[in-house]
Amino acid sequence: MASITEAEIREIVKKIVSSSVGADLLGYTSTQYNGRKLIGVYSDMNEAIDAAERGYKAVRAMTVEQREKIIDEIRRLTREEAPIMAKMGVEETGMGKIEHKRLKHILVADKTPGTEDIVSEARTGDNGLTLTEMAPFGVVGAITPSTNPSETVICNSIGMIAAGNGVVFNPHPNAICVSNYAVDLVNRASAIAGGPEVLVCSMDKPTLDSAAIMQSHPKIRLLVCTGGPGVVKAVLSSGKKAIGAGAGNPPVIVDDTADIKKAGKDIIDGCTFDNNLPCIAEKEVFAFDSIADELIAEMKKNGAYLITKEQADKLVPIVLNEKTGKNGKTVKVVSRDCVGRDADVILAKIGVKVGKDVRCIICETDFMHDFVQHELMMPILPIVRVHNIEEAIDLAVKAEHGNRHTAHMHSKNIDRLSAFAKAVETTIFVKNAPSYAGIGFGGEGHTTFTIAGPTGEGITSARSFTRKRRCVMADNFRII
Ligand code: NAD
Repeated sequence: MASITEAEIREIVKKIVSSSVGADLLGYTSTQYNGRKLIGVYSDMNEAIDAAERGYKAVRAMTVEQREKIIDEIRRLTREEAPIMAKMGVEETGMGKIEHKRLKHILVADKTPGTEDIVSEARTGDNGLTLTEMAPFGVVGAITPSTNPSETVICNSIGMIAAGNGVVFNPHPNAICVSNYAVDLVNRASAIAGGPEVLVCSMDKPTLDSAAIMQSHPKIRLLVCTGGPGVVKAVLSSGKKAIGAGAGNPPVIVDDTADIKKAGKDIIDGCTFDNNLPCIAEKEVFAFDSIADELIAEMKKNGAYLITKEQADKLVPIVLNEKTGKNGKTVKVVSRDCVGRDADVILAKIGVKVGKDVRCIICETDFMHDFVQHELMMPILPIVRVHNIEEAIDLAVKAEHGNRHTAHMHSKNIDRLSAFAKAVETTIFVKNAPSYAGIGFGGEGHTTFTIAGPTGEGITSARSFTRKRRCVMADNFRII
């Protein structure tokens, strides 16, 4: 009997999920969950934008205290329903780890800033008082990824509502059920807290066409795009104010002063979090030759499986598919059948059978290897040996490809740490910790799932979605 491939199974599941039959088999589609219609989901982008505008008007009419009540309710429901969204996210996309996705939702609920992030400035002098306030843009058009789908919808919603905006989402088609579940969650929270029934909106079948309508619609005042280079470029060319949170390829340097035991554990913990889906996760390592063997041994103790150069080369055409680009040149793109998959599933593709205790595939490569050069978003970690800090920084900066997204370093030498941080110019730089410390998970500071490097907002929060307005009262209103 002919066996069915993983890709064919995924295609069947996708069809089931997007059909009404899916309701019976999995309990949900992009418009309903267990027979309950999801609130705020539309078939027409123009209608969704009109509804988001009504949501915006309702938010504008609210006090800040009322907005904060809705946000508190979003946090509560997110904590409560994190296990549902985590399971659904893995089921629908076939990517990531349920427990890690649950933790990501809790992080969003606990550490996404609310209205406290919106602060006003007052300036007084001989000529009176000038007040600067952070005002909403209006209706925000948000594009969200498949890698952190519901996490991004909830994180964006909290920040955008805190800032007083309305939001319409055009979520990733491959994660539409869980994204719309999150949209519905925000709307349920609004209703419970006395807000409008439809506060944020989405599409039942988002497409590039619906994204294009959103990008050119006169009611959309701000575009916020979280995704790969293609989509970020598209929104930045829209002629509207846009926030672009794009791709990364975070390098890690480990030098000969580092705590190698800790570095080995931290790197594998960070690299395997949600099977490497977070854009901040460790993607390639530059290790001093003198400590590389010890580092590899520590990584193996923490669930890494070392493959040979030949095995790595055999994996390349499996995880990277050749496609003809727009200019007729051949380009390599990551295989969606491998992104976010478990290490044992990827290893099985080259005939290596291991158990679920293997969390990560590691291999020694040279700098030009495809595993170093491409953002794989799966638990495969290439290790390149270097001889000194100059070589390490030079190669790590090149591997980051000027994304200026995220970089990591394990070292106790502050001169070297500073030198790499300066040279790589990334939005996030994590020293001696797993990558997720950079978004507030085991590190200080707030969280976000929209890290806007290209447009400079950085670790976005409510204030990123505001415009500054000034009110001048000349010659008066001083109290001294
Ligand atoms: P993707 O780029 O495939 O898709 C993102 C979204 O854009 C989807 O909704 C998709 O349908 C839409 N889209 C794609 N092309 C478009 C176009 N031309 N016009 C309008 N919409 C378009 O993203 P993905 O695979 O889900 O996510 C992975 C990528 O996103 C990685 O490169 C990752 O680094 C990046 N990412 C970045 C951040 C960040 O905060 N900087 C966060 C998550 C993901």
